[in-house]
Order: sequence, then structure tokens, then C-alpha cells
Amino acid sequence: MTLIETCPSLEAAPVADLHVESVLTTVLDVPLNHVLGTSADVVRRAPILLVDLTTREGAVGRAYLFCYRPSAARAIALLVEDAVASIAGEKVDPCGMATRLARRFALLGVAGAARMALSAIDVALWDLAATEAGLPLARLLGGSLAPLPAYNSNGLGLMGADAVADEAEALRARGFRAMKLRLGYGTMAMDIEVTRAVRRRLPDDIALMVDYNQALAPDEAHRRCPALEGEGIAWIEEPMAHHDWAAHAALARDLVLPVQLGENFNGVHELAGALDAGACDLVMPDLARIGGVTGWMAAARVAAVARVPMSSHLMPEVSGHLLAATPTRHWVEHVDWADAFLAEPFPVIDGRLHLPDRPGNGLAWDRDAVERLRAGH
Ligand SMILES: [Mg+2]
Repeated sequence: MTLIETCPSLEAAPVADLHVESVLTTVLDVPLNHVLGTSADVVRRAPILLVDLTTREGAVGRAYLFCYRPSAARAIALLVEDAVASIAGEKVDPCGMATRLARRFALLGVAGAARMALSAIDVALWDLAATEAGLPLARLLGGSLAPLPAYNSNGLGLMGADAVADEAEALRARGFRAMKLRLGYGTMAMDIEVTRAVRRRLPDDIALMVDYNQALAPDEAHRRCPALEGEGIAWIEEPMAHHDWAAHAALARDLVLPVQLGENFNGVHELAGALDAGACDLVMPDLARIGGVTGWMAAARVAAVARVPMSSHLMPEVSGHLLAATPTRHWVEHVDWADAFLAEPFPVIDGRLHLPDRPGNGLAWDRDAVERLRAGH
């Protein structure tokens, strides 16, 4: 495979007449409105890293990351500062810098925290390039600002049939017409009971995705997943260990229900590899693990050639811009976590995410909220 993770979609890569000067990183500890209990962990507070990349000319490019663990937010901040120091003084060139930074970090390994750090820098650089071009990021990438169908991915954790059914009703606020249920209870009977309880509480035209968060061994997946056919489910996400593409391929062959993978694809090569293996019917790369804007656009081209619908994972704001320019765009995964610290949260109206019509990616921090939510305060 000779896929190259360089500038993907544009005839002429944007090089802004701006020069990288310095970066400010800020770690936030954001309480969630809806606790997220998955089969892997319970998330009550989101460790968030804000990245403000400043140029000599005074422009600021912004990005934020969901970092999974508080320690990761601190570690990624150090990696971001190190990487930006190595490009200080250079002209803002997102595609060229993605290649050079990946090379510079190759011996450490461009995965996990290092991958997330480089992705955040990439997002901030593209924000600068779009701002300099006077265009919303979606438009710079060739997309439109048409509102995007979003599913409500807040809540619906592992908390039993009655509680999730009640929460499912509440999650229809703002006109959401799709939501995602976490499964991986102790027994198959419980998975089915909870799915039915939620399905019964929702109108038929509300789509329901389910996510196992890698909970099942292959034999258990082959038992439980077929049992969910006919239960009114839109997709079944990460039923097994995400890297076991052979096991997913065997399962996908046996299922009518679409298998969804992608939040753990490290770079476009893994997305292409999973599709080559037949591991999934749908993909949903994560902005921070696929390689920021640059990596996403490369992935979007692969998905387009394979004619595979592509959704996003968390961080809906910048992901929305990218989906707008993704030929096989499917769903925005929406969580409201960033609403707590954004000066202007992106509105969801009738279940659709609206992108702001202003240059750049539209991220701006609510300074008072940032002070209040700063980790350790
Ligand atoms: Mg998931």
C-alpha cells in the first residue's frame, strides 16, 4: 500500500503568509451533562486540551482535543509545545508541516498521544489558513455550509433499561432524529432488553445506533450481534477489539446489520487497511487519530473511492467542517461537551449541526468559562 498522508484534496496546498511563533496550551476539566458509562469506562468529566497557535503577525489558530484521561491532556500539551517549538519561525503550511512533523516524531511513533498532539497542531494550522483565505474551513476544503445531520451521542450509557429509556426521550431535544446506545451488559438478554426498552420509547423514524466499545470476544460477538438483527438498529459499532480486522470481517460477512469502525484508526493507512480487510461497512474516523484536517481529507478520498459512508467521532465542530467536504458524508456524532467553553457553541436545529459562516473553523473560547474549568482550579 502506498497511500501517502500528505495534502489530500487541494490542487494548491494553502500556504498562508503568516509565521508560526508560539503556542499556548490549556487543560480543562469539563463536567458532562450526561454521564457516559461505556463497557470500557465511565466518563463523568472530560479532560480537554485547548491549543492556541499564535503567529508573528498576531493571528491565532485554534483547536481542542478530548484527551480521554487527565494525564493524557498534560502529556499531549507537552508534545504540542515541543512540536510547535520545532516549527517556530516557519511559514504556515499545514500540509508541508504535517509531513515534516510526522517525520520528526517517527522514532517516538506517530500514534496515541503523539498523533493527537500533531493532529491538534494540524487543525490549528488549517484554522489559520482558512482565516487568512477569508473562508470558513468547510468552504476552503470544497464543501458547503449546509446544515449536517447529527445524532445525539450524549448519555445512553450502561445504566439499565428504565434509566436509558427515560434518557433517550430527553435526548430528542433540539430535534435530534438519531442517537447512540452503549451495549455490552453482562448478558445478551440484558443487551436485548435494554435495546427494546429504548426502541419502544422512540418513534420508529428515530435512528438508533449501538456501540459495544470493543466489549465482546469473537465467539460472543457472533452470538450477540445476529440476535440484534431486526431490533431496529442503524449500525453496530466496535463489537470487538478494534484492531482485529479479521474477526470483524468474519462477523460483517454474517450480518445484515452494518458494522461501524473508525474512532481508533491511527491514520489513513488503518482506515484503508480495515476497508481492504472487509472489516466494516461504515467508517467514522476520529479527527485527532486520523491526523487532523490533513489526515481526514486523505481518509475522505479513500472512503469515497470505496463508496463507504463516513461519519465522525466526537469533537463535532471541526468534524462538521470536514464532513461538509467529505463526498460520502454520513452522520455527525454530536456531543455537547464543548458548549461549556465555546464563546459561540455551534447550534443544533432540527437535529442538524449548523456551521458558522465566518473565516476559519469557528472555534473561540469563552474566557470566563476557561478560567472556571481550568484543571486544578
Ligand atoms: Mg464508539
